[in-house]
Amino acid sequence: MIERRDQESIVNYLADASNFKGNCEKVLVPASKDEVKEAIIEAAAKNIPVTFSGAGTGLTGGRVPLGGWVISTEKLNRIIDIDTSNKTAAVEPGLLLSDFHAAISKIGLYYPPDPTEQNSTIGGNFATNASGAKSYKYGPTRSFIESAEIILPSGETFFLPQTKNCGNLLSMKSSSGKEYNIPVDDISMPEVKNASGYYIKRGMRDIDLFIGSEGTLGFVSEISLRLMDIPNEVISAVIFFESDINALDFIDDLRSLRNRNISINPSALEFFDKNSLEFLREDFPGIPNDALAAVWLENDCYNSDPDKVTDVLISFCEKHKANLSGSWFASDAKDRNKFQTFRHAVSYKVSEFISSKNMLKVGTDTAVPVQFFRKFLNDSINLVSGNEIRYVLYGHFGDCHMHLNMLPENQDQLRIAREIYSDIIDSAIEAGGTVSAEHGIGKIKKDYLLRMYGFESIKKMAYIKKILDSENLFGRGNIFTDLMFE
Ligand SMILES: Cc1cc2nc3c(=O)[nH]c(=O)nc-3n(C[C@H](O)[C@H](O)[C@H](O)COP(=O)(O)OP(=O)(O)OC[C@H]3O[C@@H](n4cnc5c(N)ncnc54)[C@H](O)[C@@H]3O)c2cc1C
Repeated sequence: MIERRDQESIVNYLADASNFKGNCEKVLVPASKDEVKEAIIEAAAKNIPVTFSGAGTGLTGGRVPLGGWVISTEKLNRIIDIDTSNKTAAVEPGLLLSDFHAAISKIGLYYPPDPTEQNSTIGGNFATNASGAKSYKYGPTRSFIESAEIILPSGETFFLPQTKNCGNLLSMKSSSGKEYNIPVDDISMPEVKNASGYYIKRGMRDIDLFIGSEGTLGFVSEISLRLMDIPNEVISAVIFFESDINALDFIDDLRSLRNRNISINPSALEFFDKNSLEFLREDFPGIPNDALAAVWLENDCYNSDPDKVTDVLISFCEKHKANLSGSWFASDAKDRNKFQTFRHAVSYKVSEFISSKNMLKVGTDTAVPVQFFRKFLNDSINLVSGNEIRYVLYGHFGDCHMHLNMLPENQDQLRIAREIYSDIIDSAIEAGGTVSAEHGIGKIKKDYLLRMYGFESIKKMAYIKKILDSENLFGRGNIFTDLMFE
């Protein structure tokens, strides 16, 4: 097993895309699950905390160690098996999403979870329950996890799911026969896209507890994923508007038809405000000068007629006064990729900006129930636009999921940005929404998780962690403050 100790070779593991920074004693790079187990057992015997590291594209400091050892999955990157008849694939956790997408698309298969950052790992996606543009239609990573192998701090292994509907007790047996009984005492999870804290719900699968648990309950050493056929055709467009209200009405109108059996059923429905378009203009000079908002939309065609989808789309554009002549409609896969790059570019540029300023990311990942979304959005814009801090606002608006990223230039602006962030979180919670719809809590959003769920619910989560990881060795500092874990 590779062991890295010198500062130069471990520095890359001491931050993630949030720019949160940490430290560790050493980084271990196992090449097999037996080596992972060996390292975990040794760490537990010495009472040393362990942080798991995927590709480090996380946005909440989840893979950033606060001391102890790091176990990196970079050498656990194989596709173990693809079963084309059952449409499933078994993979190692360090496999990059881009490599997986490339391999399965060659054989006509499709894996919808698309957390923008193609350089993330499947293990990281599992641990954060990553979402992305296509989650609008297909749901988050959770919806595509068939089974997984989990290694506990004791080195014992679970193969899950063992129960598909656990009622109010999760009863799991490790491969050595040890039984773990975990009470499922419902917490009231918001009725929106959500990646905040543990998933705890009566009737859940046992594996659901581990998906999105941010490396705090177990190391995921093998994952089996559900696949789909590639759609016959994909309609893709970036539609520009001269008014943000029109763009938002356009999205509302399409959302109101969601999953009803009509000719248009987008798989992705994403919004960009005027600041995002300005932010991108240098790289994408084709953005019309008078554009004040844009919507990127994809529609996978399985049974639907692509011409009909396009006709319906154009009628929606006309109804909401889109700039039809300036909008972009894909005519082939190359165009589609360009539009996806356009969507991805805004998040990349935010990450680039914060790391160039050496600032911690101050960006919302909130989703709220649809009936409160427009008010929440307006209130958030009012909060941020009354001062000099630059910001870009975009996101998965089909899911009422908003990324408002502030771009502070100095420490004073950073302080104000944090205050604004805190106020936005309060109004998301008040509206029955979530602190994190997809990035997770990690080390930088714990206080907000506490506001969202309250102490009693967090204690229920911490109680579960104690059953599986009594010494709080895995993912220390993620999700829970020390106080919550006492
Ligand atoms: C430009 C940009 C755009 C992004 N867009 C999106 C988006 O649209 N949607 C979205 O959901 N996310 C998005 N992200 C966030 C990020 O890509 C996801 O959170 C991703 O799932 C992280 O994967 P990773 O491999 O980089 O994990 P890391 O950052 O390395 O780790 C994330 C967490 O997973 C844990 N972990 C990793 N491997 C394992 C394992 N084998 N067992 C147990 N725990 C493990 C880590 O300890 C950590 O807590 C974006 C990030 C960037 C930089």
